[in-house]
Formats: sequence, C-alpha cells, structure tokens
Amino acid sequence: MALVGIARLAAQSELLEAKRTVQYFEIPARSILNRTRAGMPFQWTINPYRGCEFGCKYCFARYTHEFMEMDAREFEDKIYAKSAAAHLLKQELRRLAREDSIAIGTATDPYQPAERRFGRTRAILEVFARERGWHVGVTTKSDLILRDVELLREVARRNVLGVNLTITTLDERLARLMEPQAPRPALRLEAVRKLSEAGIAAGVFPNPVMPWITDGEAELDSLAKAAREAGARWFGGGPLFLMPSAQQVFLPFLDERFPKLAARYRKMFARSAYVGREYKEMLRKRVQAIRDKHGLASGPIEYRPEVGTEEQGTLFEM
Ligand code: SF4
Repeated sequence: MALVGIARLAAQSELLEAKRTVQYFEIPARSILNRTRAGMPFQWTINPYRGCEFGCKYCFARYTHEFMEMDAREFEDKIYAKSAAAHLLKQELRRLAREDSIAIGTATDPYQPAERRFGRTRAILEVFARERGWHVGVTTKSDLILRDVELLREVARRNVLGVNLTITTLDERLARLMEPQAPRPALRLEAVRKLSEAGIAAGVFPNPVMPWITDGEAELDSLAKAAREAGARWFGGGPLFLMPSAQQVFLPFLDERFPKLAARYRKMFARSAYVGREYKEMLRKRVQAIRDKHGLASGPIEYRPEVGTEEQGTLFEM
C-alpha cells in the first residue's frame, strides 16, 4: 500500500541519531500549531516532537504514531523532531487571536531526552519570549525544564505562562513501573519548587488518575500536599483515558504487574475509552475536596486529552 501524507513524510524522514533502541528523526512539518476541537480549555497545541521516549504505559498519545502507519508500541522508540518549528510558529502566530490559549506538550513531552539534543521546545519558547500577550501552558514530566528557567521568566514577563508538572504518584517504584524513562517524582517536585521560586506559575497534574492504582484518597492527598509545599498553585486531576492504541500497551502491562486488576480494567474499558460517569464524578469530588483542603486551584488549563485533532487541525495541515 502506498503511504500518503504524514505516513509518507515519516517514512522519508532523515535519521538524525540512533541511541540505544531509540531512533531520532527529523520530520518536515508544514505547520506547528494545531487547532483543538470546540470546548477544550485551550484552542491551540504545539507538540515539538512526535513520539516520547518516556514510554509511559498508559500514554494516550500513541495514536499519533498510528497516523504515520506505525505500531503504537514504537511511540517511545522512534522520535521525530519537527523541522523549522520556530520559523513556522512565527508565521502562524500572525493568524491567531491573542485571547486564544496555546498548550505546549499535549501529545509528547516537550522536555523528553531528545530536547537536550534538538532544542525544539527551547526554540519555540524563544519565539514567545520575543512576543507579547499570549496565553501559554507547558506540560512536562521532566526536570529538564529547569534548563530554561531564565527563558521561561522572559516568556512570563511578556505573556501569561503556566507550567504543569505531571506527577501521577509519589511512589518511586510505581512511577518506575508505569513511566519507565521519566524523571523520578522527587525530581519533578523539585522542578515545581525551583520554578515557583523563580516566580513562574506552576502546578501539578496527577493525570491520568488510574482507577485502583493511583486514585486512593490518601495517595492523592499526599501528592497534593507535597505539590503545595513545593509551591504549586494548582492541582489537576483527570481520569485515565484508554483508547485502543493505549490499551495495546497498558492491558498487557496490567497482566504482568497488576494481574488482579487486569480483568476489572478490561471490563471498564470494554466499550469506551472513557471511564464511566459514576467513577468520573467520584474522582471529581475527591480531587475537589483535596484541592480545597490544600488551597489549590484546578489549573490554568484543565487536563483533557484531545484525540483526533492533533495532526488533523482544521486550520493547519501537516
Ligand atoms: S510523558 Fe506524556 S507523552 Fe510522554 S510517554 Fe508519558 S504520557 Fe506519553
């Protein structure tokens, strides 16, 4: 079958470097801003990379590799750095309204290891540092963001900036199982502390909250308390979203590590990628009570995975 569109571009992408089992490519991008669907808390997304080396077992963004006719399991092995990201952003911002919000890192981690080498996220922030009046959010699991503290301060001086550190659990062992290549939770909390000390508005997202694994009241409470003590201003809290591409990885992971939960998850996600209304409501109330207890807001940008819009933007096409 002939490959078309983004799948053809991926197949033709230049191999930049191979490290361990991870391969890095440069992929030509025709645009860097993607429009979200109506009702999202942010109107545009920027994902400087395709794929993510952190390889979280629950990652919903694996579907973006399927767009390239690739196996969802290659998401953490084949990383694509988008070319000319900063140049494209400068041009595309001219077409946006200032009141729109722009979220960086919704389908990839903008501070995954590839960023050390390719600097695409930094190049994007450099554009915002020269702009004025934009609403920008950055979401990451990595303390590599501290490399850019001065630049982030510059962005925040001229725009409205919020940084979200994703911390699903304080349990280092559990984090290592679920997020094998991501920085330890303690390092992420330390990043929150240093960002806050630098005057950058930061919060913690415990997302996705996983039923019977990370949704315990005491666990979420401890996490919120630690976040608050580190200087977080908000605490997210959205449930797991498990579309088929994510199930391919997450369900076998449960079979291996949490065999007693595997059947419950299969039942829960048999007909939909979303948790049921009852569970969602229970979690919403639980997280809200914890937020209130610790004086935390719900976040500058609520976490809601968007699916099917990335790379299918209504205004810009890859
Ligand atoms: S850090 Fe985010 S994008 Fe990367 S694998 Fe984990 S969930 Fe997916």
